[in-house]
Amino acid sequence: MGLNDSSPGAMRNGRGLSDQWAESVVVRPRTTERHITVHKRLVLGFALSIITLIIVTAVAVALSVRFDDCGGRDRGGGRGETGSRGSGGSGRLNGSRGERMGDRGDEEVVQPWKNSRLSGSVRPRHYDLRLAVYMDNFTFSGEVSIELECINATRFIVLHADRLEVDRVSVAAESGAGSRAANRPGGGVMRVHRHFPFPTNQMYVVVLHRELKPGRLYRLNVSFDAAIEDELLGFFRSSYTLQRERRYLAVTQFSPIHARKAFPCFDEPVYKATFSLSLRHDSQYTSLSNMPVDSSWPDEDGWVTNRFARTPRMSTYYLAWAVCNFTYRETQTSSGVVIRLYARPDAVSSGAGDYALHITKRLLGFYEDYFKVQYSLPKLDLLAVPKHPYAAMENWGLNVFVEQKILLDADVSSSSYQMELTMVVVHEICHQWFGDLVTPVWWEDVWLKEGFAHFFEYVGTDFLFPKWNMEKQRFLTDVLHEVMLLDGLGSSHPISQEVEQAADIDRVFDWIAYKKGAALIRMLANVMGQPLFQKGLNDYLLSHMYSNAARDNLWSKLTQAMRSEGRDIDIGEMMDRWTLQMGYPVVTISKNQSEQLRTHYITVTQEHFLYGEEVRNNLSLQWQVPLTVAVGNASSVCLESLIWINNRTESHRIGQMDDSTWLLGNINQTGYFRVNYDLQNWKLLIQQLHNNPQIISVGNRAGLIDDAFNLARAGYLPQGVPLQLIGYLPEETSFLPWHAASRALYQLDKLLDRTDDYRLFSDYVLKQVASRYHQMGWPTNGPGTEGNILQASYQTEELQRELIMLACSFGNKQCHRQAVAYISDWISSNKNRIPPNIRDIVYCTGVSLMDEDVWEFIWMKFHSTSAVSEKKILLEALTCSDNTFLLNRLLNLSLTSDLVPEQDVIDVIIHVGRNPQGRNLAWKYFRDKWEILNARYGEALFMNSKLIGGVTEFLNTERELNETTFSADLQWKRNQYNINATTVSELLKVQPIRMKVEQTRRRSSEGLEMFRGKWLFHRDTLRKQEAGGLKRTPGLLI
Ligand SMILES: [Zn+2]
Repeated sequence: MGLNDSSPGAMRNGRGLSDQWAESVVVRPRTTERHITVHKRLVLGFALSIITLIIVTAVAVALSVRFDDCGGRDRGGGRGETGSRGSGGSGRLNGSRGERMGDRGDEEVVQPWKNSRLSGSVRPRHYDLRLAVYMDNFTFSGEVSIELECINATRFIVLHADRLEVDRVSVAAESGAGSRAANRPGGGVMRVHRHFPFPTNQMYVVVLHRELKPGRLYRLNVSFDAAIEDELLGFFRSSYTLQRERRYLAVTQFSPIHARKAFPCFDEPVYKATFSLSLRHDSQYTSLSNMPVDSSWPDEDGWVTNRFARTPRMSTYYLAWAVCNFTYRETQTSSGVVIRLYARPDAVSSGAGDYALHITKRLLGFYEDYFKVQYSLPKLDLLAVPKHPYAAMENWGLNVFVEQKILLDADVSSSSYQMELTMVVVHEICHQWFGDLVTPVWWEDVWLKEGFAHFFEYVGTDFLFPKWNMEKQRFLTDVLHEVMLLDGLGSSHPISQEVEQAADIDRVFDWIAYKKGAALIRMLANVMGQPLFQKGLNDYLLSHMYSNAARDNLWSKLTQAMRSEGRDIDIGEMMDRWTLQMGYPVVTISKNQSEQLRTHYITVTQEHFLYGEEVRNNLSLQWQVPLTVAVGNASSVCLESLIWINNRTESHRIGQMDDSTWLLGNINQTGYFRVNYDLQNWKLLIQQLHNNPQIISVGNRAGLIDDAFNLARAGYLPQGVPLQLIGYLPEETSFLPWHAASRALYQLDKLLDRTDDYRLFSDYVLKQVASRYHQMGWPTNGPGTEGNILQASYQTEELQRELIMLACSFGNKQCHRQAVAYISDWISSNKNRIPPNIRDIVYCTGVSLMDEDVWEFIWMKFHSTSAVSEKKILLEALTCSDNTFLLNRLLNLSLTSDLVPEQDVIDVIIHVGRNPQGRNLAWKYFRDKWEILNARYGEALFMNSKLIGGVTEFLNTERELNETTFSADLQWKRNQYNINATTVSELLKVQPIRMKVEQTRRRSSEGLEMFRGKWLFHRDTLRKQEAGGLKRTPGLLI
């Protein structure tokens, strides 16, 4: 391979300056005797320069001795010091060496490895990666040969590597590059001056003697060794049990910046290249990668080498491989794409993967039709693994899912489990276009791919199950309401976030990126109308396929699509307001107060919506708001066309109004903002809901509930308004408004729990729930329902489930009796006759109400069942106990025994934290076990942040939320475990914990007192009304 590293001896002795001197001597023309005779003055000059050189060399030797003391290494002597995992000290030493070189002012004063981003002087075109995987000792060794194109002349090749033991490095000019040297025998070889890791930036640096020339091609060869990680990143291992035998598998997780842990590469999304991968391993395993196996050959020692077909151009973080002994089932699309589901052999044979296989086949067709761009690869594998840091990962052609998000046992799974699983699959398949095919240029725009995939979860699921009505309904509660809660905080951030440091990149994968991204895309799709939206997307995908794109590329394609139909809207100008500014506006609509205009004109104002009144100091934020307004009264509704609100206050002419007409904004909640009205209008809307709710759409009924509760929480509206509003719920027959209300009520439940007025609150909720709960009853468990959930009427089942959940969790006695009866029947008959859709509610209620034996029974069932969905809810039920001894036991068992899958440990801690009896326990446990948790989940920050958010979400007293406690605790963690301070504080900033602190501080001082007062008053009013007559009438409590 033309290795041409300098010999170890030469490099040890004053390599730095003397080698450069040697190089400059070679290129200098030889001085002849004639020259000396003729130009005697030159001789003198030459002698002087020789003396100078001797001095310089002496200084250089002195410097380089010190320099070598600092850990300078080379191919021979430096072995074993490479990578951050070795002695641990080498990284820091190598880092300090770089600084010294800069101080010397030589030509290496340019040190591109000091920048956190790659310089772009060279670009990879193709990777030839050959790996040998040793599953017996969990290591692998590799050789990568990277074809590079030089963009700017440079002596440095800087790429990423982390935790790799680099062995040999060589560089050669490619013969096809026009280099004459490359055509000579043994030619093309570039002398490597030195090579070293720079752990600070997870980089590896190759310094050459001569510059690479722009426009020419080179080949960088690196051989390396590494461990198959126990952490969930890079190339990592996990295990499962098959017929009482432990089996291992190894799989990759490269997103966002972990490809560098498996091979040296240019690990930024914009460095797209093609990849040819060979995997050599024990033949008892099979191996998978993005592409199908091209050729396979056995070795004499019982090993096999699989060579996979060359990939299209793609980013490093989408490369993937797996070594396992899974089996599969397959299907094929009409265009010939082979789809396989790989999983544990027992899961495959039970048919648990068939559902995912079935919907994936339909989804490929759906997306091909919608985007009008074919799926790019010949195959798509869905790999179900027992352990993974995310729900799933969209590696092109090899999607990896954690088992709970892809395996479905139709007989025991609830429809919500099925829905969740469906949406994960829909999400990952969408990424094959938005992500794999067209990739965001940089992580600041990660929302471009995540927002689209999240939005299409709803659109794609509607295609699969139109009756579920996901995009028009469920999107509102699960995405819009959810993210507006977070984005209304002073601690929120713009959806496009600047990120530079590697440690910050995980941070951008948060709910703001996913959910706000999806909500903004949905708003845009509604403003544009579906045909133009689709046209713009098609153009965007075609223009940037196999390449990268930034948000401006998308905006320009969408603007073009609009202009092609004569609609002159600058999408970029509009969307920049929504993506570059944090938060969202509250739009207040009222009838114009001037006498001449009030019958036809409305006044609209916008301001930045924020929960904390004390943080409302930034009045400069404004948005371009696409507002839809309806004007209605008891008998009719008239929908106005779109009104653009660009200024702080505007007047608009609409249809005729009188004193009995109400105004309703943001029709079907397609816009990403809240709407407020004057109190008279709220009163008219509430009256409308009590008298005839159907005249207002389901989406707007849910929207009014969510807006009212949140406007009140933030102080824009008196607390009596939302309470009055939900008084219509006994008349409500649709799932969505109930779901919106229960979400708001659980939020209040969290805050009021453990306060004196809790009973008052739960009584009020039970009163609203009772009649509809009794009317809907409990689901039957006849043969028609079981095993047939695909056909089930989703809306009815979900409403029934919601009401049972509200009734049981707020203490309805009949609900408790029914749950206890189901559990008793199960224990005595050993037959589980509980309908799948409500099993989680029944298990949890049973565990919390019944004695310790029930807990033991559920624990036993948790071990004996093999259905993943059932396992999940049994485990969650164990966290519902009121018995702190049992909760403690569960926490300890989860971390110390093999009984609880590693994947589920974090959920156990979070769920214990949700239990009022377990809150302090979970928080204490988290702090006590931080060391173990950090070692186990380490860099998989997503899990860590989920954990931190989870255990602190429900802490709600001043003592618990005292900021001093937090900072003291943070300090403690930093000191104890040397955690990157920025990482932890940034992590907390984006977590709901921050919200809790803000909310509780405000609420404890004023809000809660006022809230309690109104509540009592409201209850008394209702009692009086009921005592006096049968019908409750809405009168505003303001
Ligand atoms: Zn995603």
